[in-house]
Amino acid sequence: MFKKNKEQKNTNEIGFEERERKTPFLGYLLLVAMAIVVLLFGFAVLDDLGNVPQKPEKLSSCSFGYITYGWGDSFRDIAPNRNYYKRDFSLTQIGGDCVFSNIEKKYGIDKIFLEGKLDRKEIADLRNNISEKEFELQRLKQNYQLGLLEKIADVPKGYETENRSAQIQKLENELASLRASLAQKEKKLEPQEKQLQEKYGLLQKEYRSLWRIHDFYVFLLQIILIFPLFFILLKAYFKLSAKNSPYLIIVTFLFVPISIFVVQIVFVYFWGLFLAVILEVIWNFIKEIQILKSLLLYLGMILSALLFGGAVYFLQKKIFNPKRVALRQLRDKKCPNCSFSLRLSKNFCSQCGIKILEKCQKCGQDRYVDLPFCQYCKDKIER
Ligand SMILES: [Zn+2]
Ligand SMILES: [Zn+2]
Repeated sequence: MFKKNKEQKNTNEIGFEERERKTPFLGYLLLVAMAIVVLLFGFAVLDDLGNVPQKPEKLSSCSFGYITYGWGDSFRDIAPNRNYYKRDFSLTQIGGDCVFSNIEKKYGIDKIFLEGKLDRKEIADLRNNISEKEFELQRLKQNYQLGLLEKIADVPKGYETENRSAQIQKLENELASLRASLAQKEKKLEPQEKQLQEKYGLLQKEYRSLWRIHDFYVFLLQIILIFPLFFILLKAYFKLSAKNSPYLIIVTFLFVPISIFVVQIVFVYFWGLFLAVILEVIWNFIKEIQILKSLLLYLGMILSALLFGGAVYFLQKKIFNPKRVALRQLRDKKCPNCSFSLRLSKNFCSQCGIKILEKCQKCGQDRYVDLPFCQYCKDKIER
């Protein structure tokens, strides 16, 4: 009874292929889950490896203030990383006294800051004061204009203009004297500034190379952990693929996250090293010429469509290659076109009428149209 049922299923379902049964949905779900878990753990590991070699000491918040807001605009790029302020400066001490790192002490930057501490504080206060007064002045000037307009229009209780004009004059005088004392203070600090710039130039070089060394160690560690896995999987992939093994799909799903890691490791390392700089130069050049920029974006759109479309096309072609389908069907004694059992067919399929057998040109016997060799005389036809 059971056996009969099974046989019925085999012969009645058109296109049913016992050997080619697909991985079930649950199987795919598990494979995807596996790939995601491997990805998550892998990224955590790669990230964590960044902490294994000792990182260069963070620079003080004094340096941060100096480099970011202060006088040292030319030293903004102390580190190659764009998030340098998070990575390179200990910003927790902002507001308090600066805690200088050893590399800053080595170049005597702490001493320079200590010497000029009061002057620097005064300069910062003066700058704040000036920008507040400038804001106030602008507001007054706007009101004054409004008052004048209202006077022309004869508004009875409009803005008063005489008093305001005196206020503006007073504020402008104050600003002038503040600016003068700021200039004086800055002149006083000039020799220190020159020193600082020189020291920061040297510090920048050393600090950068410290990070380069650190990044290189991280890169090595990541390679040592990930690359062997990559090659083992690659080997397993080719081996299983040659055998057409059902376990190939497991290796494939493991191969995807590992490849992502390899790309990430190599890309991140070389990005920090020089790729970012080169791409920025190229992009800046292209940005200047608007039509080039548009063309590039357009090209990017076409390329990504080709890439994704091509990947899907390749997959489909591999799965639905007519030659492979015909071969599979004939192996199972079924019509290559409609899967009807060949037991009931002869030269033509008795269900769909497609040609199954033809006369061999060499020996005259009946050979299969879709197979390369004649089963009687071994005559080969490239199909
Ligand atoms: Zn047929
Ligand atoms: Zn033949």
